[in-house]
Amino acid sequence: MEQRPYVLIFLGPPGAGKGTQAARVAERLGLKKISTGDILRAHVREGTELGKKVAPIMERGDLVPDELILAIIREELKKLDTPRVIFDGFPRTRAQAEALDRLLEELGLKVDAVVLLEVPTEELVKRLLKRAREEGRADDNEETIRRRLEVYQKETEPLIDYYARRGVLFTLQGTGPVDEITECILKVLGAL
Ligand code: ADP
Repeated sequence: MEQRPYVLIFLGPPGAGKGTQAARVAERLGLKKISTGDILRAHVREGTELGKKVAPIMERGDLVPDELILAIIREELKKLDTPRVIFDGFPRTRAQAEALDRLLEELGLKVDAVVLLEVPTEELVKRLLKRAREEGRADDNEETIRRRLEVYQKETEPLIDYYARRGVLFTLQGTGPVDEITECILKVLGAL
């Protein structure tokens, strides 16, 4: 049976649990999770040209230039016959959001829904410091964490309004048991 295209975006600050929830929802709904952070980290690990370029930027907690991110997204979409995707960590700027709209329009598609995970800032810092101790991600140190939160507020938060105006935004609390959050997301998406 042919499945219809579906484009979901997970939005929220660093440490909100986007990656975790996106993976769970992707599995339940048969979607492909496209995480720009994971793709960039793979490039850094493998030492590709792109990886060398973005490593210092990511270590500072700054954003990778839009053109590089958009090249990755175009590439990922090209791999799929029917896009059924969750974007995790993308778009992160107004320019990225507008470029995504154009890209989807070319394919006759649109953003179906945006899930915003809200978590109080003190809780975010706590989670990111814990992840730093456990996983040792290069950008999970206190200074970079503060920088990433700042960049989120300045560059990414305006997207909340961008999508809210369009009536595709669903806002959920990202605190509490992981399972319950997943169920809430599936429920607001009308998938339960
Ligand atoms: P987090 O949301 O916890 O900060 P991510 O894994 O989503 O972690 O991103 C890690 C880093 O990768 C970001 O701080 C940024 O440097 C880079 N990055 C990921 N996605 C994007 C994007 N869409 N635009 C620009 N930079 C990005």
